[in-house]
Formats: sequence, C-alpha cells, structure tokens
Amino acid sequence: MVWAYRHEPFTDFTNPANKKEFGEALTLVKQELGKEYPLIIGGERVMTEDKIVSENPSDKKEIVGYVSKATKDHAEKAHQSAQKAFESWKKWKPEARANVLFRTAAIVRRRKHEFSSYLVYEAGKPWKEADADTAEAIDFLEYYGRQILTLKNGVPIHSREELEFNQFTYIPLGVGVTISPWNFAFAIMAGTTVGPMVCGNTILLKPASTTPVIAYKFMEALEEGGMPKGVVNYIPGSGSEIGDFLVDHPKTAFINFTGSKDVGVRLYERAAKVQPGQKWFKRASIEMGGKDTIIVDSECDIDTAVESIVYSAFGFSGQKCSACSRAVVHQDVYEEVLNRVTERTKELTVGNPEEPDNFMGPVNDQAAYDKIMDYIEIGKREGTLKAGGFGDDSKGYFIKPTVFSDVEPEARIMQEEIFGPVVAFSKAKDFQELLDIANNTDYGLTGAVISNNREHLEKAREEFMVGNLYFNRGCTGAIVGYQPFGGFNMSGTDSKAGGPDYLLLFMQPKTVTDQF
Ligand code: GLU
Repeated sequence: MVWAYRHEPFTDFTNPANKKEFGEALTLVKQELGKEYPLIIGGERVMTEDKIVSENPSDKKEIVGYVSKATKDHAEKAHQSAQKAFESWKKWKPEARANVLFRTAAIVRRRKHEFSSYLVYEAGKPWKEADADTAEAIDFLEYYGRQILTLKNGVPIHSREELEFNQFTYIPLGVGVTISPWNFAFAIMAGTTVGPMVCGNTILLKPASTTPVIAYKFMEALEEGGMPKGVVNYIPGSGSEIGDFLVDHPKTAFINFTGSKDVGVRLYERAAKVQPGQKWFKRASIEMGGKDTIIVDSECDIDTAVESIVYSAFGFSGQKCSACSRAVVHQDVYEEVLNRVTERTKELTVGNPEEPDNFMGPVNDQAAYDKIMDYIEIGKREGTLKAGGFGDDSKGYFIKPTVFSDVEPEARIMQEEIFGPVVAFSKAKDFQELLDIANNTDYGLTGAVISNNREHLEKAREEFMVGNLYFNRGCTGAIVGYQPFGGFNMSGTDSKAGGPDYLLLFMQPKTVTDQF
C-alpha cells in the first residue's frame, strides 16, 4: 500500500542548518565540475570525441561538464535498444514499474541538495528556485508512480448480463522521444521521461544542450532505482541532427516535447507526416511558451498585487513559461501598483546564485541574453522604462529586472514571448477591458487575477482563456498533483503535466469483449 501523495516540501533557507547543508553540497558539487560524460545507450556508456560543453551561465569560464554528443548512428542504436527494451518493460507489472519511480524518488530526496547544486551551477538557479525544481522532480516520480496504480486495471465498463464480459484497459504505445527544456532542467526533464516510462513505454531522452549534466545525474538515479537497461536512453545532441531524426523515425510512437514555440510547431508538423514503413499515427505532446498576464482590479489588495507581479515576473529571471510578462492594471490603482512594483524591482539583487542572497541569477546563455537585450531596446521605444533596462555579459549573462509602463496592448513587448526578466504594464478602464487585453495573445498558458470582487473573479473563471488560472496570487509555481499544468492555444497541446489525465496521453485503451 502506498501512502497518499503529498508534494515535497520546500527547504526553509531561513533555518541556518539548512543553509549550511546547502552550502556544503555546493562545495562538494563544485569539485565535480568539469568532468566528461558519456551517452547511455541500452545501459552502455558511450564516450564520443565531439562534446557539448555545458558552461555555468554565471561564470562562462567555469565548465560544468563535457557531455558526449550523439550522432544519427547513436540515435538509431538507441532507438533499437529502446525497441528491444520495450518488449520486456511493457510486460513488467505496473506496481513494479511504479516501484522504480518510488525508489528513484527516495534516492533523489536523500541527495536533494546535491541535485539542486547542479542546478545552481548548470542552470544558474538561485537556491530557492533550484530547490523547487528538485522538489518538483521528486513530485513527478511520486505522483506518476501512484497514477499508474489507479489506471492499471483500466476503467469498469458495462457488459450485457449473461452474454458477454467486456474489459477496457490501457496498454503502452512503444518508443517515445522526450525533448526537454533547460528552464526546469530537472523537473520537466524528469517528468516528461518518467510519466510515459511508468506506462510501459521506453524513452529516448534528448535533454537541452545547455543542461545535459543534471540529466545524466538523473539517469544514474534511475539506474540505481532499478530501471532496466534500455528503458531510458540518454542521447544529448543537436536538434537539427538527431532531434528531427528521432521525431521522423518510423518506429517512434510519440513525442513529448517542452520548449520554444518555433521548435514545438516544427516538431508537431514533422510528427504528423507518415513516414515509409510507419504503422501508426504518432502522438505529440507539445508544450511551449506563454505571454502570461496578471490583471489587477480596482478593488484589490495592493500588497498582493505587487508581490505577485514582482515574484512572477522575476523569479528565475522570468525564464518560466508561466512567468508574468504583462501586468494589466485598472486605471484607479495603476499609478500605485506601478510605482510600488518599480520600487520593489529596484531593490532586487542580481548576481551569482552561488551566493544565497542574490534574488536573481543569470539568464541561460548568450543567445538568451542577446534576445532579451533586443527586446529591452524595443521596449524603450514602445513604453517608458521604469526600472532596469541594462545587462552585463562580461562574466555571466546578467540582466537587471526591467519594468516598462504605458505600453499599448498591441505592442511587441506585450505580444511576443521574451523569456527574461521584463514586465510591461498596460492600463485598462474597467474589468471587461482588463480581461480583453489579457486574452489578446496567441498564447494561453497562465494568468492571474488580483481582485476582491467575487463577481469579477467568477467572470474571469469563465472567460480568461488560460490553462492555469490563479486568483489572488502569482501565476508561477504550479505544484504537481495540485495544479496540473499546461496551456491553451499556441502555448501547447495542454498535456497537463502533473495531472490525472497525463499518463493517458502515452497509452492506448483496448476493449476486449468475451462473449459466452
Ligand atoms: N510549471 C512551472 C510553473 O508553474 C512552469 C514550467 C515552465 O516554465 O516550463 O511555474
């Protein structure tokens, strides 16, 4: 009997003992930096000459690891080993598959700060954000392990008495490709791997090229947790070389992708093309970006509005697809909310997240830095710069949290995903206009409403078109099992990670009628 699911608590860093332990883990992991990592294909370690260099975004000269880079040949070998492993893994009892996840969760939990330390160095996460990322990875393991137990016997259906016995059960699909992002380098990478895996599928894991080391450390934990060889194959590599190859492969059954809209749209289209020799339609779960809005009503708690905007916009430097990049505020409270957000933003500290007192670390890499800085220039033309507006990429990729006011709803910085620490303010005259502006994007991932007017909240419940809507709190920080996460419209296929329907995306229902 497994105990009821409960999310992994976050570490309280105001407790000096926790702070000390985390500091010690950072010191230990620092000594591990700069190692070489092989591919893992069918359980075998394969070291390649050509390497992906994973650098610390806070300090470009510090190399987190040199990671082997898969070619098409490696990808084909990995596919074959996943096909072979599928034949036995699919026959494992669901309870036994779930136990691999539960054991892996226990292993990660015991070494929690060690995993989080890799996230500090490799993803540039401040302590609190790294700790939440690791906690979420544990949650996915615990939650999906339990979910398969609820689905293992299928769903009861009717039978015609004395004539037939009908059965409705779920079976896995086959070999799937997980392409995971760098922003939740642990949680999303782990969740999008172990969800389909616990259903009996086998996986080709291509982690983001800026965060492959944390994925390797996770592979070790899965192996220690009892995962058989070939069930998850670790093949970092370039999107254009092996990403497309794996998606196009006729023996691929499904694609589980989280990342940018450009890549997501491309993979969705490619997955739809039936290749010679292909015997099924591929499924594609594609989770992409957002242009997420917090709307602030005239009747509201201003402190809640300010804190919600500041944390949702600048937590992890705004590099969450759930991040608030638009604050749409009722004209009666606009000046007050804007001024207080501006003041709070100016107080935020930016620097190397190894230091616990830095609220914000760097952005992901040079490409991210350049893109965000370009948008800041665009913002200077489209609105009034109130805070931030500059960056420094001499040592790492640091950008000051940036606030623009008086931006038109149609402006580029109100419409296009920036994926950085930039928030734009727009003013509206009434609640209807607040909602209209919020809905005026191609995306539909998260949103929040700060209001004390129950009627307005109920209207938003119906009309605010986002997959994850929050009342009187920020719009980031969904918790596995509590706030199933995924977006509408061009945010993705709404595959609700950490939700009760998630595993069904990676299984097919089978109906058997036994007539007597
Ligand atoms: N689930 C995360 C949150 O609620 C965001 C995930 C993402 O950025 O991809 O903040």
